[in-house]
Amino acid sequence: MIPPKTLKLSLKSLKEFARKRLPDQELIALDARDECPLEIVRHMCSPDKLGIQLLFIPEEYGGLGGGAFDVYCICEGMARIDLGVATSVLATFLGSDPITMGATPEQKKLWLSRIAEEGLLFAYGATEPDAGSDLGALQTTADRVVENDIIVGYRINGSKQWISNGGIADAYTILANTPSGPSWFIVERGARGFSQGKPEDKHGIRTSNTAALSLADVYVDAGRLVGGVEGQGLLQAQAVFGYTRLMVAAFGLGAGWAALDRAIPYSAKRIQAGSPLSEKQGYTHKLIVPNVARLEAGRASIEETAERIDAGEGSLNTEGAIAKYMSTEAGNLAADASIQALGGYGYTHEYMVEKIRRDVRITTIYEGTSEIMEMTISRDRWQLHLKTRGRHYHDRARECEELAARHAGVGAGSAALAFHALAEILERARAGRLTRYQHVLLRIGEWIAYSECAGSLARRAARQAEGRLNEKASQRFDAASLAAISRIFAREAALKVAQEGLRWIAGAQAGGPAATDGELAALEAAVNLTAIYRAQVGLMADMDLVADVVYGRAVKAAAQVA
Ligand SMILES: Cc1cc2nc3c(=O)[nH]c(=O)nc-3n(C[C@H](O)[C@H](O)[C@H](O)COP(=O)(O)OP(=O)(O)OC[C@H]3O[C@@H](n4cnc5c(N)ncnc54)[C@H](O)[C@@H]3O)c2cc1C
Repeated sequence: MIPPKTLKLSLKSLKEFARKRLPDQELIALDARDECPLEIVRHMCSPDKLGIQLLFIPEEYGGLGGGAFDVYCICEGMARIDLGVATSVLATFLGSDPITMGATPEQKKLWLSRIAEEGLLFAYGATEPDAGSDLGALQTTADRVVENDIIVGYRINGSKQWISNGGIADAYTILANTPSGPSWFIVERGARGFSQGKPEDKHGIRTSNTAALSLADVYVDAGRLVGGVEGQGLLQAQAVFGYTRLMVAAFGLGAGWAALDRAIPYSAKRIQAGSPLSEKQGYTHKLIVPNVARLEAGRASIEETAERIDAGEGSLNTEGAIAKYMSTEAGNLAADASIQALGGYGYTHEYMVEKIRRDVRITTIYEGTSEIMEMTISRDRWQLHLKTRGRHYHDRARECEELAARHAGVGAGSAALAFHALAEILERARAGRLTRYQHVLLRIGEWIAYSECAGSLARRAARQAEGRLNEKASQRFDAASLAAISRIFAREAALKVAQEGLRWIAGAQAGGPAATDGELAALEAAVNLTAIYRAQVGLMADMDLVADVVYGRAVKAAAQVA
């Protein structure tokens, strides 16, 4: 873990560097030229310059040994600047991940030290033209080369698609099928038979290099098989999903806030119909405040997961999936709303929100699409529902009720309503075997993400009220404001779970109304829609308060609410 002061300094240097080297005009020009600023990426990764990659490398190999929380902070900071450049730095981290997780001590020493000392750029080569979300369909092969009954090396054949840093990396981790299953290999640029395609002409993150790779009989020594044992590739990849998904979650969060932080000052100055847009409730309560709430729900989920990973609770793949899902979807919504918030100006290149909107689009696609996140979340929590005979989310609800008893006003009461409704919906889906419909299964993933994020945000608001927030955590909002943000989000979560849950439980019934009427009426009562509607009381005042805080009008609103 990095000391808070060091982290703060790193974030400050990053900002300073971006201010000098990547001002808006430069980013707009790079985006228009579809150019990855290689010199800047190298500068960021050079140990004697910014040295960002040092944060990711364990101390014993010359790095700073950053934990998940540190990595989240840095990723959010990079995403606020430019998601394309951030992706280039991320690619080195992803590329070296199989090594950090699964390599032999000698391999770690060699490659991680080289990243730390030489600023080596890596790329992560998993995806193929016909193997995207389903990596099991991998077709790249690694055939053993045997001499005197000893495996001395491998010949790799196949192709990789959409590889970040594909055209600029110094070294690559490549996933290929050995006779014993998928395995990672380290392949250096320049290896015979290894070629890189031209940069892809992309919708967004145009400052990041993305290229296809072709491997035609590429020979590597046996020492390049990560971990020295075949067939460990998918396990090594999965071992860090929680961690790597948090990084992309932080990208969604950073980019979403970068867009909002342009819309907010713009709307404070833009006069229409005689007053600033920021003073129009129909504007702020649609375009700004709900996005603040969703982004901060994503942040709460990221921070909680990061703290748990740092505390040694394992890789937390499902929690990482929830954080990624919420933060990247929220980032997309916030960036889209920011274009709307700037009107015609938002639709032009000059005001940046248009670029941010294109850039953040990737975050719901790479490192696992949103649909794959929904499936991952749903399947895992479904098992918990079954194992506990339907108690799992009622238990989470009770924890929130206890929190609400200690901390009224942090949104825990509405979060509890969301959890109770969720438990009832899951139970009805189980009884009706409705998860045989993939749509129901995936929607459940979304409702789980909303409910769990509501719980995380309520806990974060309570911790802030107690002055126990992580020292490295964002302190943008004070305790009262964060509590209002939490109440707004928890109300949305509860309503979403109950209304959409009822909709799809009913929608998935195949039988005639007579067969289901009684059951649906019972479910309607069980999800407690009435209580969820009642919990919306005060929503407008909370949104007014958050709008005032966001626009620096806090004192007036806080006094009113008090
Ligand atoms: C700019 C960019 C950079 C990237 N960088 C890297 C990198 O560095 N390294 C790397 O290895 N990969 C990288 N990728 C690949 C990325 O991880 C994949 O694009 C992603 O995993 C999705 O795979 P796919 O594109 O084949 O889409 P598909 O898997 O074909 O998915 C297409 C759509 O179908 C949905 N879908 C897929 N399966 C299911 C299912 N079972 N049920 C329901 N819906 C489903 C998906 O959610 C998606 O909406 C990058 C991609 C891009 C665009």
